[in-house]
Amino acid sequence: MLTAYIKNVENGTLNPQNFIDETLQKIQTAKDNAFVHLHHQHISRDREEQIKKPLHGAPIGIKDNMMLTGEITSCCSKMLETYKAPYTATCCQKLLDKGALLIGKNNMDEFAMGSSTEHSYFWPSKNPHGIDRIPGGSSGGSAVAVATGQCLAALGTDTGGSIRQPAALCWVIGFKPTYGKISRYGVQSLSSSFDQVGTLTKTVADAKLLLEIMAGEDENDLTTKEHETTVTTSKTKKVAIPNQIFTEALDPKVEALFRQKLDQLTGKGFQIDFIDIPLLLHVGALYYILMSAELTSNLGRLDGMRFGFQKEGYDYAQTRSEAFGKEVKKRLMLGNYVVLHENYKTYYKPALQARQELTNQFSQLFKTYDAIITPTTPAPASKIGAKTTDSLKMYLEDLYTTPANLAGIPAISLPMGTITQGEEVLPVGIQLMGAKREDEKLLNLAEMIEELS
Ligand code: GLN
Repeated sequence: MLTAYIKNVENGTLNPQNFIDETLQKIQTAKDNAFVHLHHQHISRDREEQIKKPLHGAPIGIKDNMMLTGEITSCCSKMLETYKAPYTATCCQKLLDKGALLIGKNNMDEFAMGSSTEHSYFWPSKNPHGIDRIPGGSSGGSAVAVATGQCLAALGTDTGGSIRQPAALCWVIGFKPTYGKISRYGVQSLSSSFDQVGTLTKTVADAKLLLEIMAGEDENDLTTKEHETTVTTSKTKKVAIPNQIFTEALDPKVEALFRQKLDQLTGKGFQIDFIDIPLLLHVGALYYILMSAELTSNLGRLDGMRFGFQKEGYDYAQTRSEAFGKEVKKRLMLGNYVVLHENYKTYYKPALQARQELTNQFSQLFKTYDAIITPTTPAPASKIGAKTTDSLKMYLEDLYTTPANLAGIPAISLPMGTITQGEEVLPVGIQLMGAKREDEKLLNLAEMIEELS
């Protein structure tokens, strides 16, 4: 725990040097592939200095799509396998300024496309609750690293659930702030109108602390501009559950656990209403149409000429066919397809309109409710390989997480409980979504729910 680490270093009960050594040792002996590169240069050069600052050299992992000057930032793709960052991402710089030790890069699905880390060019990470199971993704390495104590907290990015879904499957807390709350400067774009930097932590208090450090305006990312901080405490404890989440994709055991949790909340004075948001039945299509269209344009810069993998003779097509994995190619094709002149009106434009409609509906609902609550995922972690040949099954992982990205609202996943499958005990999460720019209020509510467990 990050806050406990700071406290213990300050009261002299914990030696930060030893703690950092032990953490690095853990990473070196771990067999779960949570990290893909360690920042040896940064660790040895900056460690002494960082320990003197407020975070006291707290070891923090960052997803492999975040830049730290001079260190490899590969996005877990062959395309950027040897690419070294020419500058540092704002979110990382802010943590460095406060004394974090950004120890290394966490594994992820290639360019953050996926829900399992199986699309990583290097290797899949392994779920600490079942070594032959996926940890979720795309920020799967970050979730495993936090769950197993290979760092005190980690950064991830969340375009459609990539922080919350792995957090749920690994029993940690995953927080995606309001769109634009934390600068994305220096973070590889997947789909720019969805992407958000967020945190994987052991406690809500840790998420609060990291948000406080990283949030705020950045001249280099104008989506951060309109943010003023609001700190309100929930008074009504009035929350809504959309009826549309109860589809056949929802594992009956997850549903039972979710209903139990709702009973517990009612017992603690929460008012719970079941409501209808019919558009939620279409979020899968909306998300995959819009995010693919955007990523197609963002990945255009990887053309084999400027940086990254280069096929001899600067052959654009050869470079891209050799350096991108299957999932990336699939989405590039989908993205190009939906914006083609003849398809634009059929797919892209209606999806944009529906996205706006969903965003408006959420804003209306947050006039009445403090939060909208769902399970984080419809099912616990699946076995490695179980869904790799069936994209639709894999895409169902995002059923409950994509709405928050479509609407740009903050959302958090907390551990909800465990499901027993034979010998295995697998965690699942509960998700709270809150009103745009009311991140602090959502975190306060999350803390109340955290205390119940
Ligand atoms: N699993 C989702 C996808 O595959 C979300 C990815 C993300 O949030 N980066 O697109």
